[in-house]
Amino acid sequence: MKVGAFRIPTETPESDGTLQWSSTTLVVVELAAADLRGIGFTYAEAAVGTLIRDALAPVAIGRSAWDIAALGEAMAARLRNGGREGASAMAVSAMDVALWDLKAKSLDLPLARLFGQVRDALPAYGSGGFTSYSDEQLERQFSEWTSLGFTRFKMKFGREPGRDPQRFAAARRAVGAGAELFADANSAFGRREALQWAERLAANWGVTWFEQPLVPYDLDGLLFLRDRSPASLEIADGEYGYTGDYFRRLLEAGAVDVVMADATRCGGFTGFLKAAALCEVWAMPLSSHCAPALHLAVGCAAKPMRHAEYFFDHARIERLLFDGCAIPEGGVLRPDLSRPGLGLEFKWADAERYQA
Ligand SMILES: [Mg+2]
Repeated sequence: MKVGAFRIPTETPESDGTLQWSSTTLVVVELAAADLRGIGFTYAEAAVGTLIRDALAPVAIGRSAWDIAALGEAMAARLRNGGREGASAMAVSAMDVALWDLKAKSLDLPLARLFGQVRDALPAYGSGGFTSYSDEQLERQFSEWTSLGFTRFKMKFGREPGRDPQRFAAARRAVGAGAELFADANSAFGRREALQWAERLAANWGVTWFEQPLVPYDLDGLLFLRDRSPASLEIADGEYGYTGDYFRRLLEAGAVDVVMADATRCGGFTGFLKAAALCEVWAMPLSSHCAPALHLAVGCAAKPMRHAEYFFDHARIERLLFDGCAIPEGGVLRPDLSRPGLGLEFKWADAERYQA
């Protein structure tokens, strides 16, 4: 068992509607069984690494990597007093991913095959467009992504609403009239303000996706907004879903048009597949949040999956520190079926300089 936390500086200072950052922390766990190694990771505070090392590793050591459900129970029981969300969920998520990687490797199968593929490749969209970017930076990023075949692009907004109209106009200029443009507010708005933006986004720049307009727990507010938004604009949320019952409540509330889920938070692949099963029975599309390398295999197996987020920060870190990351081509990510498990090797030596 090896655990590490790595703080990787961003290329330039970044911000969205409610947060500014200049680094991203990656927590990695490597589990060993005989001569096999399983890798799991999450984007979380370094303390999540401590939680894995001190609380979860002792639960897993000596047990079979095949008993993922039983180990999930045991890990949840161990963290009972800390609650099931937040740091606990992120620690369990990283462990769950490592266990699945190990299980697939012990069968010498790529994870996509072990889960059972419903598609050969996963459509993805370019996601960045930080509010810290100049209009020129934003246009350059989106233009570069068009050369990877992306036809969907997501940008942040809501930090300086007075500047956003020119930013949306610049983004639309860069991607062309036919591309899909997504907008993520990261909870920058209240209900009425979000509704005004919904109308402007659709009418002025042809935006088709409005993500996390409100504080994430305001499911009634999302329903209010969804009922009143233009038909061409989808409401998307769910990236802070940590547990299965959150996704149940999100769906029961009729709060969104597209569910988002993040395997680095929602219980790893086990939790992601549960969210996918809920989406399937509710006839609701699913889109993965962040960590593109992590979502590729499970995204090829989850039936209601529409696309994966190719998030600039995480795509950059994953290509820097993992061997085996898929490169988007023609707007899709394709799993390498010649590699067992996740198909990723973590470069521990290269990561050392970023140790948190
Ligand atoms: Mg978001």
